[in-house]
Amino acid sequence: MTSTLRTPDVVASIDPATGETWRRFDAVPAGEVPLLIESARAAQREWARVPPRERADVVRRLRRRLFARRGDMARSITRESGKSPVEAIGEVLLTLEFARWYARVTPRELRRGTRAFTPAGIALARKRVRIVHEPLGVIGCISPWNYPLVLAAGVVIPALLTGNAVVLKPSELTTASAVLLADLFREAGLPGGVLTVAPGGAETGAALVESGTDKIFFIGSEAAGRKVALACAERLKPYVLELGGSDAAIVLDDADVDLAAEGIAWGRFANAGQSCVAPKRVFVVAPIHDAFVERVTAVVHGLRVGPTANGGDVGPVIRPRQVALLDEQLGDAMARGARVAARAAAPPAGADAERYFLPTVLTEVSPDMRVMTEETFGPLLAVQRVRDEREAIERANATSFGLAGSVWSTNHARARLVAEQLDVGAVMINDSVTSAGMADVPHGGNRSSGIGRSHGLAGIHECVRSKAIIDDLLPMRQLWWFGYDESLLRGLDDSARMSHGPTVGERIAGALGTARMVMARLRGKRG
Ligand code: NAD
Repeated sequence: MTSTLRTPDVVASIDPATGETWRRFDAVPAGEVPLLIESARAAQREWARVPPRERADVVRRLRRRLFARRGDMARSITRESGKSPVEAIGEVLLTLEFARWYARVTPRELRRGTRAFTPAGIALARKRVRIVHEPLGVIGCISPWNYPLVLAAGVVIPALLTGNAVVLKPSELTTASAVLLADLFREAGLPGGVLTVAPGGAETGAALVESGTDKIFFIGSEAAGRKVALACAERLKPYVLELGGSDAAIVLDDADVDLAAEGIAWGRFANAGQSCVAPKRVFVVAPIHDAFVERVTAVVHGLRVGPTANGGDVGPVIRPRQVALLDEQLGDAMARGARVAARAAAPPAGADAERYFLPTVLTEVSPDMRVMTEETFGPLLAVQRVRDEREAIERANATSFGLAGSVWSTNHARARLVAEQLDVGAVMINDSVTSAGMADVPHGGNRSSGIGRSHGLAGIHECVRSKAIIDDLLPMRQLWWFGYDESLLRGLDDSARMSHGPTVGERIAGALGTARMVMARLRGKRG
């Protein structure tokens, strides 16, 4: 498949609150991507020879550089994504933790496999096995705009630590933060060519997939993820997809209603509702439904909508066209009988109102509405009353997505039982969103929400291929090599009886027969 997408010359970082362009970057034309991959490959050969501990030292220095420049990084994130400075510094904090955890754990994890072990099976007792984790080569990382730093860093850091080179294609909307990350890596002593940022749009991403990269980590929408998966399948190229979600929050009758309302409202409206793991569909059991809606309404009425640089809690949505899509999803729900239970106040005078979608709570929703069947990527919360826990679980799972979810209850054992029944990659009990930012916890979705996992040890193993090196302590002819005859046939049957026979008597008889066969083979006799 060849990409038919158009390559823009320039990608611009635009302030979502004002529409003002504040940085421009030359886009990498699709035709130049193969050259980037080749120079990354040359750099990777050297980088793979650097001992893992020294690679970890580079990441430790990156952490120090990022800490020193945390203000600049947070400002860049706020400026190009529109999120609150509180959320931007939070994103930097998470990234510092990713750097610390992966630098500490990766060298150890790479060593772990190299410890020799004796494989299972009595016939293999002479063997010693070592598993070597080799870098894949050049990894392509395609990232979205909603968490411009931590989502890219969550792939880039383990990929580099495991000896790979990375070509990072950030979202065309948030190139500046990715470029700053690469600058900090350079200042930390990462050799040239090991991490390359390739600014550009979808076509540059598609070229990364279609070129000689050895693996793709794609974070973004389901629609683009499907295209990436198809292009990878044609090339038998491995990939990880971290896609969209329509996460459910289940509020049980014994929940702390204040906690649930505040936690769900934060999860949904933080980052102007643009988090993959935000709770988007809430199922509240009937006895506490009204109390929950009342509490969540109070939270929404307390939110300050407006430019986050001026202290707004909920900033602009990334682009006005996204506001239009949210309006359509809201309109569809209203036309089908949903009710607006709460809507936040408009932004202050002077703010560009069309860039905001006011945090909204919908009730009386039904399963056929677009807010329930599609991902809503903005501050729009759908609340549905359910009879009981069982109905809540059924409805939560009645979606093609399966990213994460949350359960709200004061009974932890009960909440864990509900969590186990949700068809998703992570469930938070009495919290929301956090799962995607935990360095040591695997992150990823089921079904349309993705394939594979990033973060945690799983994230390390996605960046390596394992090779088994199997040694023989006593190199000699194996019993089962050619020279097939009745004695070998009987002897192997005896081995099966010895190892797997149901009674002690059968196992002893099998052991005697096996011993006879071994002696006969060692003497080189046949029969
Ligand atoms: P998007 O799919 O529009 O773009 C994501 C990235 O893919 C961008 O860099 C874009 O340029 C690139 N791209 C687009 N089409 C491509 C193609 N055909 N081939 C290769 N690259 C292509 O998504 P977005 O709007 O940037 O991000 C929002 C979506 O991402 C939401 O659905 C959200 O839920 C999801 N998301 C998922 C996770 C997760 O961890 N599961 C995290 C953040 C965001």
